Amino acid sequence: MLSPSARFSALALLAIVAPATIVAVLGYVSIRQWEASSELLYREQARDMATMAAEKVEMTLRRAEDDFLDRLQAALRAERSPGRAVDAVLAGSPLVRRLYLVGARGELLYPRAWKESDAAIFGPLVSEPAQRKLERGGQRVVIAENQICLALLTGRGGQPVVVAFLRDDDTLRREILATTLGALESPTIIAVLDREGRTVYSRAPIGDAPRVLSVQFRDALPDWRLAVYQTPGASPRQAVRRQVMFFTGALGALVAVIVAGSVATWRLMRRETEMARLKSDFVANVSHDLKTPLSVIRMFGETLEMGRVTDEGRRQEYYRVITREGERLTRLIDNVLDFSRIEGGRQTYRMTPTSVEPLVRGTLETFAYPLAQQGFKVEVSVAPDLPEVAMDADAVGQALANLIDNAIKYSADDRALTVDARVVDGRLVIAVTDRGLGIAPEEQAKIFEKFYRVGRSDTQGRRGSGVGLALVRHIAEAHGGDVTVESAPGEGSRFSLRLPLGRS
Ligand code: ADP
Repeated sequence: MLSPSARFSALALLAIVAPATIVAVLGYVSIRQWEASSELLYREQARDMATMAAEKVEMTLRRAEDDFLDRLQAALRAERSPGRAVDAVLAGSPLVRRLYLVGARGELLYPRAWKESDAAIFGPLVSEPAQRKLERGGQRVVIAENQICLALLTGRGGQPVVVAFLRDDDTLRREILATTLGALESPTIIAVLDREGRTVYSRAPIGDAPRVLSVQFRDALPDWRLAVYQTPGASPRQAVRRQVMFFTGALGALVAVIVAGSVATWRLMRRETEMARLKSDFVANVSHDLKTPLSVIRMFGETLEMGRVTDEGRRQEYYRVITREGERLTRLIDNVLDFSRIEGGRQTYRMTPTSVEPLVRGTLETFAYPLAQQGFKVEVSVAPDLPEVAMDADAVGQALANLIDNAIKYSADDRALTVDARVVDGRLVIAVTDRGLGIAPEEQAKIFEKFYRVGRSDTQGRRGSGVGLALVRHIAEAHGGDVTVESAPGEGSRFSLRLPLGRS
């Protein structure tokens, strides 16, 4: 059969650890899935954004070039020798760095001559096959690493004119890429890369940010790519990791609360079990306490009744024993009754101004016989100028009696008892000092709890119910004071009852 605490531990294991483990495992699995799906989602979003950005760049570029070509076409139609008009169009188009117009037969129409080595580069591009291609497609083509664009326009007489122009890198970067990509609202870094992967433009320094993906531009920038980089701290993995940390923290707190709750329950249960044991001990102790003086009284009474004791001195002695045991019984029953009244909240105290000295001496007087019989050296010192103190004299007398009774009960070979009363720090302190067994430091707080008795064999040999000090503490606190103990095992104890002076 398992003990209650073992049963509780097994139950706690089942009811707390198992669900906590299940929650932790489920949490871990769902976090993993969450991480994977958020990564996927992030990539999809990044791809959509990149495609959109690339389209926007191309559209802007195309619009700028269309505008240029329209103006050029107008210039070509307007004049027979359009040189100056073309100059003017060119001056208003910073995107075009160099422009050549070639006639149907490959003759250079504008400018007068090829610049530098352009003939070698542009010549083949504007040749007849290229013209035919343009005529068929009717569109512009972009070649040679996005630098050169070809388009077909018509001259004044309706003859085809091939337009070849070189884009200006700086203007492209500044007016097309920077304005289009710079305006995008996205936390990621967007860059444009050339055919070799060199950065042509980037919205922010890339540093060693990892590349998420890149998409190809289409017709307007056929050799280039638009790449998306992850800004530091913005990766979905990091976001998920932050969430994981939060989740783990919350789970940890939950488990901590559960564990704290179980520990508290376990302690409560242990206290209840302990209390039940103490209560049953209490009943046994009280019964035993009642029985002993009763049997002494009965034995001495019967002896006297039978007239067997002829010696007057002995007879007096027997009477005293009977009286003492009677007093002991009264004290015991008073203690138990008061205790039960306190427990039921029915105890009341009547405060009246009381002289301390008569109270102390009177209480000590009731112990005169056992003190003398056990050879106690008694010392009483009451400060001479003590004021009257408002108190319930019966209750304080009972508290003092309990302390003196304990000093006698838990005495050792050195039998000495000191009771002193004086004012310390504005409070009346009545202290009972013995040189008895003493109390271990770890027991000192517990002895004031109800039913608690120090479980040592030397204490066990002494009669007691375990409510005496609980009663003393209650009485002290009801007067607005307290009771303290200073003690060392083997050296003795000093209990101080401290009561305020000014209460009425
Ligand atoms: P009890 O009926 O057991 O005396 P108390 O509440 O009066 O109950 O005391 C609680 C415990 O405190 C005692 O069991 C004893 O172990 C310890 N105790 C009290 N007074 C003294 C003392 N003067 N010297 C040593 N131990 C003491």
